[in-house]
Amino acid sequence: MTSRTKRFDRHSGLNSPRSTSSTQVPRPYRGRLAPSPTGYLHLGHARTFWVAQQRALDQDGVLVLRNEDLDQARCRPGFVAAMYEDLAWFGLAWQEGPDRGGPMAPYSQSQRLEFYRAAIDQLRTRGFVYPCTCSRQDVLRALAAPHAGEDEPLYPGTCRPGSPARPASRAPSTPVSWRFRVPDGETVEFVDGHDGPQAFVAGKDFGDFVVWRPDDLPAYQLAVVVDDAAMGITEVVRGADLLKSTARQMLLYRALGQAPPQFYHCPLVTDASGVRLAKRHDALALRALRQQGLRPEDLREG
Ligand SMILES: [Zn+2]
Repeated sequence: MTSRTKRFDRHSGLNSPRSTSSTQVPRPYRGRLAPSPTGYLHLGHARTFWVAQQRALDQDGVLVLRNEDLDQARCRPGFVAAMYEDLAWFGLAWQEGPDRGGPMAPYSQSQRLEFYRAAIDQLRTRGFVYPCTCSRQDVLRALAAPHAGEDEPLYPGTCRPGSPARPASRAPSTPVSWRFRVPDGETVEFVDGHDGPQAFVAGKDFGDFVVWRPDDLPAYQLAVVVDDAAMGITEVVRGADLLKSTARQMLLYRALGQAPPQFYHCPLVTDASGVRLAKRHDALALRALRQQGLRPEDLREG
């Protein structure tokens, strides 16, 4: 099998050799903090936000706070209030956000549904996505040997147009999600600001992924791409668990005709034995640490 390789064109990045000889003016740095108020802010996220803030400050940039509150069943108003309080306590400050306004408002995802609908319509019109009625169990069952530690199971392609396994008909009440059809065998490359050159093969390292959920909301991958593009974000700083998602998102940027930002993936917070701490480890909620008498300056560095 030959694998196609496609280089993704960066925007007029500050480090790009091209930009020195062109007349393009480098875009001013715009970073973002994107907490999801489905629980109390966790130390791991706060540390990543701290890095994001340092990078924005170093480049005299703007930091945007985006409230990722799409999952209304899990986001509670109490968590939103706690989120602002915890971020401020940790020493984080932003120039644009739901509480401050700004030129790219609204900054809460629950108020941006029209943007996501426009994007999924565009993807449907251009044939990048197809409807899928598989449940998570269906996907797992179809896999001969799911790999442990995979971020999500490789989709077996059951509902892909042309697949012999494609269900002939479905009950009208069957929940439908929309999957992005990845170009099998294509290598998606990018240079990470922290981890250096990255390469992931579509159809091997990740499969067709959900961009629209059966509950009629955008999936994470689509929402962040639409928002980062619309908000003019020039660098995304986030945890290393999302490296592979960046490859997926590169494909989305291209399908939507948008230039991707730069990426900087931070090492994940681990315990003394190097084991990654679970996202919902309550003992590492910032407010629990604060109640134990710890100060922000004790917690910012790993
Ligand atoms: Zn399916």
